[in-house]
Amino acid sequence: MDPYLTVDRPLGVTYLDYNATAPLRAEALAAMVQVLETVGNASSQHAYGVEAANHVATARRRVADLLGCSAGELIFTAGATEANNLALHATYRGRRIVVGASEHPAILETAHACAPGNVVVAPVSRDGAVDTVAAAAALATGDVDVVSIMAANNETGVLSDLSAIVELAHAAGAVVHTDATQLVGKLPIDLGELDVDLLSLSAHKFGGPQGVGALFVRRSLRLAPRPLLHGGGHERGWRAGTANVAGIVGMGAAALEAKARCSLEAEHSRQLRDRLEKSLLAAVPGSSVNGSTRPRLPGVTSMTFADTPADAVLAAMPTVAASDGSACHSGALGPSHVLTAMGLSRTEAESTIRFSLGYATTEADVDHVIQAVPAAVAHVRNALRPVVKMSSRVNESRSILPMSNTSTDR
Ligand code: PMP
Repeated sequence: MDPYLTVDRPLGVTYLDYNATAPLRAEALAAMVQVLETVGNASSQHAYGVEAANHVATARRRVADLLGCSAGELIFTAGATEANNLALHATYRGRRIVVGASEHPAILETAHACAPGNVVVAPVSRDGAVDTVAAAAALATGDVDVVSIMAANNETGVLSDLSAIVELAHAAGAVVHTDATQLVGKLPIDLGELDVDLLSLSAHKFGGPQGVGALFVRRSLRLAPRPLLHGGGHERGWRAGTANVAGIVGMGAAALEAKARCSLEAEHSRQLRDRLEKSLLAAVPGSSVNGSTRPRLPGVTSMTFADTPADAVLAAMPTVAASDGSACHSGALGPSHVLTAMGLSRTEAESTIRFSLGYATTEADVDHVIQAVPAAVAHVRNALRPVVKMSSRVNESRSILPMSNTSTDR
């Protein structure tokens, strides 16, 4: 890969948590700095305002280009959470909402808040795909307003068969929304072909800044805005508040790069992910990959290391930044709802680590993780192994302390 893709690792820690947030692309940073050094509210009529509005218009075209839609079909938001909220609130008409069991909380919780008692959760199968038979059964009653199924899962990377869902939903008169936060910028998408009605995305998952995203609303849907924030009528009445010009410009610059480099970067990620996965499967007894039988995002692997708590493994390898579930839930207790929906037991879910990598990941990063994980898993397993005390013959566990760094140092 090009040298510009090398990001600093100021903490000396290998970053494999792209699904939580990806490093800012150099082009996005440069474009944002340029805007931040000037003044201008995109709604002002004077020269500075016009300049800011031009920046926003350029970014809108760039994001539209990445998605294969027209610029007028995009509403800028403060991220995918807001886009998801807007989408469900605007399309729910008092009947039912169908969502997949492995959706992000930004959909699951929004659906329940928006349509209490009227949410149908379609199960996912062991391989992580939404059960289309169950979705079809829910749709057969003909009283569904909107179906929301994610394009790619944030924990496993499993891709949904959106074309099949669209066909089923449209035949039943329902609108289709997809949370494409994890797919946009990582795999090609063309809204000229994929007939979803609404789509959410977030800049920080493909090299733009955090706190900015967009909602695509297909023009032919003629959907009336249902703003969540009231005030000035920005974004064609969908969202009040001064446009985040620098953030939007950063997203536009990231979209331009992601579009130009999508296939190259996908191949880069896939090759590194496959090597990581294969090496860890060979090196760690009792390891398995969740969702591996389905088409997946190229840069993510969800690996279960049997009977080995993931939080202890991560604590035992402080030079690796990965996630024991979705970073959005960190701090919340309990196993990942995505993995349990796939049929993993609580213990299996809690023994699972998500490694997600991307455009700036290097071979050396992967080499490091391939070394660190088996040692950390062995350390935790060893610490948990019951020991027989010669004196009392009582079982106890050794304490799980972070191991010395020698074997995990780069
Ligand atoms: N949906 C999915 C699938 C996600 O992975 C995330 C972020 N983890 C979100 C929605 C929320 O995105 P944002 O941070 O832009 O609000």
